[in-house]
Amino acid sequence: MSLLDRVLVTSLPLVPKPVVGLVAQRYVAGATAADALAAVRKLGHEGAASTLDILGESVKSSERATEFTRQYIALLGEVKAAGLDSTVSVKLSMLGLALSRDLGAANFQAVAGAARGQGIQVTIDMEDHTTTDDTLEIYRQTRQEHGGVGAVLQAYLRRTLDDIDALPGPPDTGAALPGALAASDGPPHIRLCKGIYVEPERIAYKGFQAVRDNFMRCLVRLLDRGAYVGIATHDQWLLDKATAEVKRRGLQPDEYEFQMLLGVTPERRKRLIQAGHRVRVYVPYGEEWYAYSIRRLRENPSIARHVIKAMLHLG
Ligand SMILES: Cc1cc2nc3c(=O)[nH]c(=O)nc-3n(C[C@H](O)[C@H](O)[C@H](O)COP(=O)(O)OP(=O)(O)OC[C@H]3O[C@@H](n4cnc5c(N)ncnc54)[C@H](O)[C@@H]3O)c2cc1C
Repeated sequence: MSLLDRVLVTSLPLVPKPVVGLVAQRYVAGATAADALAAVRKLGHEGAASTLDILGESVKSSERATEFTRQYIALLGEVKAAGLDSTVSVKLSMLGLALSRDLGAANFQAVAGAARGQGIQVTIDMEDHTTTDDTLEIYRQTRQEHGGVGAVLQAYLRRTLDDIDALPGPPDTGAALPGALAASDGPPHIRLCKGIYVEPERIAYKGFQAVRDNFMRCLVRLLDRGAYVGIATHDQWLLDKATAEVKRRGLQPDEYEFQMLLGVTPERRKRLIQAGHRVRVYVPYGEEWYAYSIRRLRENPSIARHVIKAMLHLG
């Protein structure tokens, strides 16, 4: 990151909220579920599926965790009623994992049970490395009980190949799941991404190419295991490699998917759809849009530059 970019990124907290809001419109569907469902509908017209995420993490009170659990259950009902092609994505720290493992697990069980009832897949987002073991354990337990649950693995973590080897096979229940969930009852559904948290070198690859290389090793291992992989990246190098890999294996478009964040590289997303790949867009929304937007902007100083320019223009 250049010195100018570093200065821009550190000045972001000084930017007035309405100005951040102008730029955030690209990355966040809005403050309400209605805003988010409208975004999902629009993406659907473009040929993309979605996964809905209510913004919020590291919840500090059990009441707040219960409130978010309630919001997710209500959202599942709305997605079902609207007949939209969308799954949901959940951060366990939002459901109380940071307070206690049991609370996070119990609230997630409630969400997964509701998701099963509505025939909607739910993916557990992966947070920082202090939560990896608990998250994978809760994923295993819930998948066993409900099916229809997916997890995320991060290519920057040195442990990820081992985590792939330890993934569970089909759940023991053998119970048939409705509609879209039927496929997820078989192979594990795993979103593979680079990873977004700042992690120590002892546990995480740091080099840009080293992370890419491990991403490809993990993708190959996941496909070898028969997993349904959500290939979550905007990196053109990885998109090319992954596309070649699924082609080499002769996989059909319903045997994997690409995933991207709302507002990020929409032209690459459209190219993938045109080429016949299934693409799912991560659609975040909620009252906590401001913190999320600042994080997105920190990751992409060129967009931070637009924010500062907009502020100077408005000011
Ligand atoms: C659907 C989805 C779900 C995710 N879920 C998780 C999760 O559960 N846990 C987790 O740790 N991480 C998650 N991530 C984030 C991921 O780990 C990466 O941090 C992020 O995708 C950037 O990596 P990249 O592979 O796109 O490559 P990069 O090399 O970082 O990006 C490639 C190009 O894409 C553009 N770009 C990438 N990210 C952004 C951005 N945020 N804003 C603007 N432009 C951008 C830039 O132009 C950049 O040059 C998710 C990502 C996606 C797409």
